[in-house]
Amino acid sequence: MAIYEKAPAKLNLSLDIIKKRDDGYHDVEMVMTTIDLYDRIELTPLRNNQIEVTLWSQFVPNDERNLAYQAAKVFKEKYNINKGVHIKIDKCIPVSAGLGGGSADAAAVLRGLNRLWNVNVSMAELAHLGATISSDVSFCVYGKTAVARGRGEKIEPLPDPPPCWVILAKPDIGVSTRTVFQQIELEKLHHPNTEDVIHALHTGDFIKMCQHLGNALEDITMRMYPEVKRLKEKMIKAGATGVLMSGSGPTIYGLVEQERKAKRIYNGMRGFCKDVFLVRIFS
Ligand code: ATP
Repeated sequence: MAIYEKAPAKLNLSLDIIKKRDDGYHDVEMVMTTIDLYDRIELTPLRNNQIEVTLWSQFVPNDERNLAYQAAKVFKEKYNINKGVHIKIDKCIPVSAGLGGGSADAAAVLRGLNRLWNVNVSMAELAHLGATISSDVSFCVYGKTAVARGRGEKIEPLPDPPPCWVILAKPDIGVSTRTVFQQIELEKLHHPNTEDVIHALHTGDFIKMCQHLGNALEDITMRMYPEVKRLKEKMIKAGATGVLMSGSGPTIYGLVEQERKAKRIYNGMRGFCKDVFLVRIFS
């Protein structure tokens, strides 16, 4: 019997880099929310002790480099499971886009295997295990809206944003998160006002939330890829209330309350790039 899990993409409402740690990683502070653009994960038990991954994507490997594979591996090791699983990924989230697709898949595999093999550990334990795979996996285990600190593994839940539409526009490039992080010069970063974003979520204030969206990595990615900056300017000009780059980019998103306006902006943005989506915050 197969188990199905949705693996929704995340958006950064804020992304701040706090400091460089002794272990070479950065301490971050990120407010993230989940949108209804998702990969579908199907987990089927195997008679042998193997992990198999199938997916149709020219950009994502189907071997041990796949984060979904790594999730199954650490799960099997941690809970001493001598069973096999076939992981089928129906990939809808654009790859290397700043939308955390790989982390979402890994988190969905952890949640799914917890059910498939009746291990029944808490979400907190899965999130802890997820942190060993990649820093956004902990957040993706819970989904919804939260602030992530430390390397991204310390999660504090927040209220979801007020209901709104999300227009996503991704230029035809993939951005390596690693390369962007290597370019960080802490003293030159523009730090977003994360506390104000959190306050706006607590008070359900859509306009305030939009005013305080901020991403410390935007300048770096936009310096490397000026088309990302141009796309952000187009989204602002099109009339979105809040506009930001998600993660290390290159996806630019716009937030809008009214459906008609969202559809108009969506249609307009399709004139500038191929990958444009109109979605809602996941609920
Ligand atoms: P992040 O900001 O967390 O790096 P991203 O959205 O920018 O996320 P992903 O789509 O997660 O980037 O992919 C980043 C890299 O991870 C790619 O090089 C891709 O080949 C690799 N990868 C491994 N497993 C997966 C997966 N299941 N889905 C997508 N990418 C994966």
